[in-house]
Amino acid sequence: MFEVNQNYAKLPGSYLFANIGRKVKAFSEANPDKKIIRLGIGDVTEPLTPAVVKALKDASEDMAHAATFHGYPDYEGAYFLRHAIVENEYKARGLDISEDEIFVNDGAKSDSSDLSDIFSLNNKVAVCDPVYPVYVNTNALCGRAGDYIAATERWSNIIYMPCTEQNAFLPELPTETPDIIYLCFPNNPTGMAITRDQLQVWVDYARKVGAVIIYDDAYEAYITEDNVPHSIYECEGAQECAIEMRSFSKNAGFTGVRLGYTVVPKAIKSAQGDSLNKIWAMHQEMKFNGVSYIIQKAGEAVYSEQGKKETRDMVAFYQNNAKTIVNGLTEAGYTCYGGVNSPYIWLKTPNGMTSWQFFDHLLNTVNVVGTPGSGFGPSGEGFFRLTAFNSQANIKEALERIKNA
Ligand code: PLP
Repeated sequence: MFEVNQNYAKLPGSYLFANIGRKVKAFSEANPDKKIIRLGIGDVTEPLTPAVVKALKDASEDMAHAATFHGYPDYEGAYFLRHAIVENEYKARGLDISEDEIFVNDGAKSDSSDLSDIFSLNNKVAVCDPVYPVYVNTNALCGRAGDYIAATERWSNIIYMPCTEQNAFLPELPTETPDIIYLCFPNNPTGMAITRDQLQVWVDYARKVGAVIIYDDAYEAYITEDNVPHSIYECEGAQECAIEMRSFSKNAGFTGVRLGYTVVPKAIKSAQGDSLNKIWAMHQEMKFNGVSYIIQKAGEAVYSEQGKKETRDMVAFYQNNAKTIVNGLTEAGYTCYGGVNSPYIWLKTPNGMTSWQFFDHLLNTVNVVGTPGSGFGPSGEGFFRLTAFNSQANIKEALERIKNA
């Protein structure tokens, strides 16, 4: 009789967004006349920009002619896209990243998950708490997280680094030495950013203890402050210890198109002297058949002059929404964090409510959906995440409603 990988069976059953979905569905079935405003899931709401749509159409047309037809793409990504990424994201900032250090993917989620495959199971993982759940769950699935302890909502073999009001939502260097450190800034869910000097401390630490940093930079486009790095490679020595993940989802609105990339510098070496770049190339060659030509052409269009302007405008639209939420909630007496370099606002639940109590309260009284902070980890208890992804009208209406909740 076949057996399943028991690491899958160990995952706790109730997934945050599935729970939210169930509650919202039950509410809307019971109250079909009520308009629900959704500021929960981090999914964009604005349509694709004209430059991207044109590139999608043109690339589809290429596929219709024998002379310009494309079959299997390169597993590491088309050179035209990797070159555009290098020029616009790295060389433009004075950073020396080359095309063969870029691996194109179908969005950051796949690689933030698959990267856990290339490290030894003996490696110890450190994550922020609260955390984007994929880092922990995928390490659990490959057997690196130990056992799930329901009472503490933690895995026995993961180092959790609490990010709380006391430390301004920035992790402190762990007392137990990790081998793999996941950092995500600007952060999901807290919306808080890290300064270049603060990130340098992590890079220095990783080099000292021989750890690798997996830096999730999915929200880079939302950075507004000068002292916040757009790439971890702005820190000295990061090319020897850090992998960077990027996505087209939240800047160019590609959540439904699917495109991202991972930077694996050639200078990173394991304890045995293996090149991580070569190991990752091997992983991709074995497990991945590349991203469709049409989608990669759309990604290239994001870096055209028109594409850059349209992308900036789209991000500015969400940034403005974030500002409206922060200002509105602060005026209404809420304590809010984030929203300055991020589309996420992390607010403190009022009157000592738990995160889920506040969720139920907002859903039932004013029909606004957010995300309970405790769903991202125990240190998220007492907090609530709102996103800037919606129309201006809905954001304004949601704020008025929350003020009266
Ligand atoms: N990383 C973080 C921190 C995210 O919040 C998300 C999506 O919400 C992702 C990665 C996944 O992004 P993608 O759409 O590129 O898979």
